Amino acid sequence: MTQTLLVLGSANADLVVEVGRRPGGGETVLGGDTVVLPGGKGANTAVAAARVGASVALVGALGDDGYGSLLRESLESSGVDTALVKTSARPTGIAYITVTPDGENSIVVSPGANSDVAPSDVDGLAFEGARVLTCSLEVPLETVVHAIGAASQAGVRTVLNLSPVADLPAETLRQLTVLVVNEHEAAQLARDWTGLLALGPASAVVTLGSRGVAVVERSGVVEVPAVEVAEVVDTTGAGDAFAGALSARLADGDDLVRAAEYAVKVAALSVTKAGAQPSYPTAEEIG
Ligand code: ATP
Repeated sequence: MTQTLLVLGSANADLVVEVGRRPGGGETVLGGDTVVLPGGKGANTAVAAARVGASVALVGALGDDGYGSLLRESLESSGVDTALVKTSARPTGIAYITVTPDGENSIVVSPGANSDVAPSDVDGLAFEGARVLTCSLEVPLETVVHAIGAASQAGVRTVLNLSPVADLPAETLRQLTVLVVNEHEAAQLARDWTGLLALGPASAVVTLGSRGVAVVERSGVVEVPAVEVAEVVDTTGAGDAFAGALSARLADGDDLVRAAEYAVKVAALSVTKAGAQPSYPTAEEIG
């Protein structure tokens, strides 16, 4: 294993269909053509990191089916190492997304193979060479807890995108180098941003949508403004773009504020194009 960044998390096929209106119970409506997009917070994060040049491996699971092959190919074509993405007996995770003309999404997620990502998959990981482990929460919590513990013991820095908020053991929170949350999640966890550090992590980053991010360290809070964009097309996956780029820069040796300054540029470009992974920029586009 030579990757400097390991990402533990989900990979889903996003099946998107536009409908005039949502069906009620027992009703059928006709929609547009189905669009299949690669998604899942883990895969999004890994792809965002790979696009900006990180050497990254995803730890996850896909089904032995067509969507599994499609997602594996799409990860590999973005430069993500998939050797640690196991093939599960369960079907590939799918998000069924309906979009109405007002732009609102309704989503049903079938986690499938993602539920199969187990602590034993982490036991096989040799952390040598890895500088950062980044986790998100669409895989079983016990696996995330186990991975953060193992990485921290191996001296690997740990980043957790705690979305959605879940109850983590106090010890896991203490083992975190960086807790990443959006402002709604931050409000669920603590009264103010510095209160996040009282939960245990060495530092935290609060993402504030079009306002940028707040970097919270023991030495104080540094606000990093968002990069203004001419037109916001689709903010889907902006948080994952930010987490991926931040992790990439941390694995490359940047301090947290510098890494956040870079990651807001990546996240800003990601909102100017449709979709999550298809919207993620390369290092050349960031300049
Ligand atoms: P999502 O769930 O949509 O992936 P999130 O709620 O996890 O997002 P946000 O805080 O909405 O995260 O966005 C993450 C980062 O993306 C922000 O901190 C910011 O840097 C960037 N961003 C989001 N919206 C905009 C915008 N309109 N203009 C510029 N940058 C943006």
